[in-house]
Amino acid sequence: MTPIVVLGATGSIGRQTLDVAARLEIPVVALAARHLSDDLFDLAARFPDADLIVAEVPARDADRSLQVGPEAIIAAAARPAVTVVNGIVGAAGLRASLAALEASNRLALANKESMVAAGPLMLAAADRHGGMLVPVDSEHSALFQCLIGEDTSQVRRVILTASGGPFREASREQLASVTPQQALKHPTWNMGARITIDSATLFNKGLEVIEAHHLFGLSYDAIDVIVHPQSVVHSLVEFCDGSLKAHLGEPDMRVPIQYALTYPERAPGALEPFDLVGRALTFEAPNRATFRALEVAYAAGRRGGTAPAVLNAADEVAVAAFLGGEIAFLAIADVIEETLDRHSWSEVTALEQVIAADQEAREIAEEVVSR
Ligand code: MG
Repeated sequence: MTPIVVLGATGSIGRQTLDVAARLEIPVVALAARHLSDDLFDLAARFPDADLIVAEVPARDADRSLQVGPEAIIAAAARPAVTVVNGIVGAAGLRASLAALEASNRLALANKESMVAAGPLMLAAADRHGGMLVPVDSEHSALFQCLIGEDTSQVRRVILTASGGPFREASREQLASVTPQQALKHPTWNMGARITIDSATLFNKGLEVIEAHHLFGLSYDAIDVIVHPQSVVHSLVEFCDGSLKAHLGEPDMRVPIQYALTYPERAPGALEPFDLVGRALTFEAPNRATFRALEVAYAAGRRGGTAPAVLNAADEVAVAAFLGGEIAFLAIADVIEETLDRHSWSEVTALEQVIAADQEAREIAEEVVSR
């Protein structure tokens, strides 16, 4: 199988990717992480042939050769004839995503911020250089699989499922005093801190709406969100004839990760046969008045240009501020909205515009947070 480069190797996606790689005996040629850590050394011991790369200059010596700096991560993504699994959190993953596509590689994309902030640039890079985008996000993997053999002009809409997070039934009054510890308890998925908070606010679903818009070429009116607390149906496609196709399975990220590596083939997975007996699957409308971040994301997606990059950057700042005890849970959406209102919007035709918008958004959001 095509060798893999794992970016964000010590994170939740990275570690699960390496479990899949070990089980399927897929060669791992590079492991990249932000910091040098014991976790990274443990992975290096499991994959001794992999190059080791860290974004930040380490405070201690590594007793094995190490590549350092963001440029080394970009270079790893641009190695010839590899599959790049991008599990970097946040806008930091964007340049690596573009580098992978520009090198005609397959990009197994878990860094949804790449598509959100620079969707048109990503699609153009894939088009121009023959790289291939395969989504790792469970909802988009589900849609990708439901759409195989279909004509997207016959899609009436896609429906992204959301677990609803830990506060699905909470009122705005109850949400006012939510602590980071409460928000970090996700009912069905085991993920990193930022995405767990983004799931609790429904902001993550907003990012996924924008990601789906670009990946599948659908208008925002053709992308719906439904709350499905069991997280067994990973998303659905409704066609013009009234048929629905859904993708179901255990909520386990190793399944979409593996599919992104083996596509168009499948390989035996690690999970037991799925037992449908006695499973109740329920669906409800998201509470858009309480979870405002979802609407804010739809609006930024519809506005396009630099707005989605600003949306994402403002959220990164707001979530960090919430986790640091600086702002309340409900203020996350307020910070994002004010940043969007104040930034200087433009169309996006080059990466520099995306990076500048991201930078401007972080400055505005920091200022809003510190008030
Ligand atoms: Mg998801």
